[in-house]
Amino acid sequence: QFITFEGGEGAGKTTQAKRLCDALQSAGVETLMTREPGGTFGAEAIRDLVLSGTEERWSGMTELLLMYAARLDHIEKLIKPALERGVWVVSDRFADSSLAYQGYARGLGPDRVKAVHAAVMGNFQPDMTILFDIDPIMAQKRVETRGEEMSRFDREGIDFHNTLREAFLDIANDNAERVFTLDAGGSRDNIHNRIIHALTTRYPQ
Ligand code: C5P
Ligand code: MG
Repeated sequence: QFITFEGGEGAGKTTQAKRLCDALQSAGVETLMTREPGGTFGAEAIRDLVLSGTEERWSGMTELLLMYAARLDHIEKLIKPALERGVWVVSDRFADSSLAYQGYARGLGPDRVKAVHAAVMGNFQPDMTILFDIDPIMAQKRVETRGEEMSRFDREGIDFHNTLREAFLDIANDNAERVFTLDAGGSRDNIHNRIIHALTTRYPQ
């Protein structure tokens, strides 16, 4: 099974992806944790290219194409081979982030993102996506306690993050059979338990 975690900054995706992988491994399910942008040597190099620069470094479309170049490398070299071996894959972000970030929050428009998506991905998609939905103000407080030197919250205003949140919720609505929306405002243990519950509901036993 291919499971993706989506949502804005500071929602708890990375922490919860690790916990889910540990829980699956303990239950005897071989699981691989990965992330986007990144996950392979080439895709991590593209991540550095995209995320190290300033906002002006890439236009919306070049950023989108870099994201999809990274994603294709990630799928071909890591995700598909793992799934073919029967390994479960949990990815901290995937294609929904491109639609939300490049398509909506950065203003490229959903149609252009969907066109690139269709050209690159065909009908490959996650089996299940968990959307971490959180109030951007609360998320910002979490990010501040992480102590990073410069987060997207410093570079982009709160409006950016509100747009992003609405975009993810729209995507969840449009893909209701794939996306499970999680209220990510609770404690770590509480969120972990609700993720396990969502998975055992989807995959009994
Ligand atoms: O927190 P995480 O490592 O998932 O974030 C990676 C960074 O890449 C974030 O700052 C996020 O805003 C950005 N990103 C993006 N477009 C994507 C995926 C991630 O701008 N499609
Ligand atoms: Mg993270």
